[in-house]
Amino acid sequence: MDDYTEVSFEDRMSTVDFQVSPRAHIVVDSAVCRSCTTQECVTACPADLFVPTADGGILFNYEQCFECGTCYLLCGKQGAISWTYPDGGDGVTFRQG
Ligand code: SF4
Ligand code: SF4
Repeated sequence: MDDYTEVSFEDRMSTVDFQVSPRAHIVVDSAVCRSCTTQECVTACPADLFVPTADGGILFNYEQCFECGTCYLLCGKQGAISWTYPDGGDGVTFRQG
């Protein structure tokens, strides 16, 4: 069996830098989220960027996104997410070691 050591959220975030773009590369339509029964993005996003709101919607902040695409794949046909890469030079940088 493979050894797996869980990585804390703080350690995960310490491996990346962000050059925040003025343009949101992901936009979430919270009106669609209010009728979503799974809200899988909340637990699947490795950067914890999807926060449920009291009215059943989602509060989303694009600024510390890893650009992994998980949310876009999960949301799929529900279509709440508009996804693009950030403009050149903006977005995440993964550090070595
Ligand atoms: S972003 Fe997609 S998966 Fe997440 S709550 Fe909204 S509709 Fe559901
Ligand atoms: S692309 Fe990945 S890190 Fe960015 S919001 Fe979606 S799931 Fe989170």
